[in-house]
Amino acid sequence: MARIVMKFGGTSVADLDRIHNVARHVKREVEAGHEVAVVVSAMSGKTNELVAWVQNMPKVAGSNAPFYDAREYDAVVASGEQVTAGLLAVALQSMGVNARSWQGWQIPIKTDTAHGAARIADIDGSFLIKRFGEGQVAVIAGFQGIAPDNRIATLGRGGSDTSAVAIAAAVKADRCDIYTDVDGVYTTDPRIEPKARRLPKISFEEMLEMASLGAKVLQVRSVELAMVHKVRTFVRSSFEDPDAPGMGDLLNPPGTLICDEDEIVEQQVVTGIAYAKDEAQISLRRVSDRPGVAAGIFLPLAEANINVDMIVQNISEDGKSTDMTFTVPSSDVSKALAVLEKNRDTVGFDVVQHDDGMSKVSVIGIGMRSHAGVAATAFKALADKSINIRAITTSEIKISILIDGPYTELAVRTLHSVYGLDKH
Ligand code: ADP
Ligand code: ASP
Ligand code: MG
Repeated sequence: MARIVMKFGGTSVADLDRIHNVARHVKREVEAGHEVAVVVSAMSGKTNELVAWVQNMPKVAGSNAPFYDAREYDAVVASGEQVTAGLLAVALQSMGVNARSWQGWQIPIKTDTAHGAARIADIDGSFLIKRFGEGQVAVIAGFQGIAPDNRIATLGRGGSDTSAVAIAAAVKADRCDIYTDVDGVYTTDPRIEPKARRLPKISFEEMLEMASLGAKVLQVRSVELAMVHKVRTFVRSSFEDPDAPGMGDLLNPPGTLICDEDEIVEQQVVTGIAYAKDEAQISLRRVSDRPGVAAGIFLPLAEANINVDMIVQNISEDGKSTDMTFTVPSSDVSKALAVLEKNRDTVGFDVVQHDDGMSKVSVIGIGMRSHAGVAATAFKALADKSINIRAITTSEIKISILIDGPYTELAVRTLHSVYGLDKH
């Protein structure tokens, strides 16, 4: 007997037939004698609809910024998961499986106060362990918990993955299965490159980079938790026949295992390519070149909660002034420009230019640590396709390149091919 946490994403629970199909996956594990807890997302498209409702509330005359209170945002957007949890419990009961739905606060899944992007602070596993003892399947609404202010908090987009891994850690589950609309983690997004290959295993570090650099198959925080708590996490498909051979395999279920580096025998130099669209580049011209300038620019941006990513500072030609270029998410451009404008006199710079619609493509692989020339290969391949590179950042196991948005797909496919990742 094993203890398994099963998570089903939005497309897997998009309608009643799919919820019924999900219930069959759950029933398979229950009938095999395992202790099972399930985490569900909202039905596909539901969270987007709820977010839009909050954001599109008519504005007060004269104000130019949308206004909403993050606590009420959470009250609205957390509702999607409540519906699916109840529906899946109904489906399971109708199949004769003992099941009950729970919202985050009932477990409780305790979070911090960062409404809209809360982090899980604590989950007491004993509540769920009691349900296991009673032979009951707990169906838990993902994406949500309860904050210290006694209000519902949500975990940021894609947060149900994190709910699942955190619950798996709290109950010391043998496995956490993330069921989604693809049958594993691929060398790149299979929707962009049909030649992408499914990886049997990927290391925590590489998955962390892939997720932070745009591969939305897992929320970044879920990978962090899996890594810290050593949760055996699989990404697998909910669309396969629940009773197909091998689906109930305990040690080697079909899908991709996220695991320690040493578990991977054949390590490639490059494991995957990720991309993030909707980046914007902001350039400050003729910034005075003296100590404290970078702090003067980036501290106020950080205080305004603007996530600055790539930063490039040019060498000052005259010893007096320099150019500073950096990227922020497109959605933060107007906020960033307002902050910069406010600090223009104290910092001292001339013009601000900005360019929306950039993309960041990234090459990821642990093997890069010990191989030279990986970056040069990317630059040459992009040059051969006449794709202009706007900025570059590197770390031990990744190279990120900023390019113009319309070239995203071409760049991803080019890099995928040049590193030998294409399926033959
Ligand atoms: P869910 O609703 O199940 O949480 P998501 O849409 O959040 O599913 O994540 C699954 C999607 O992630 C896939 O449909 C795929 O398009 C995308 N994706 C991006 N990069 C990758 C990758 N490297 N491997 C697999 N899927 C990826
Ligand atoms: N429903 C939430 C979202 O769409 C959480 C999730 O699906 O993981 O972001
Ligand atoms: Mg998701």
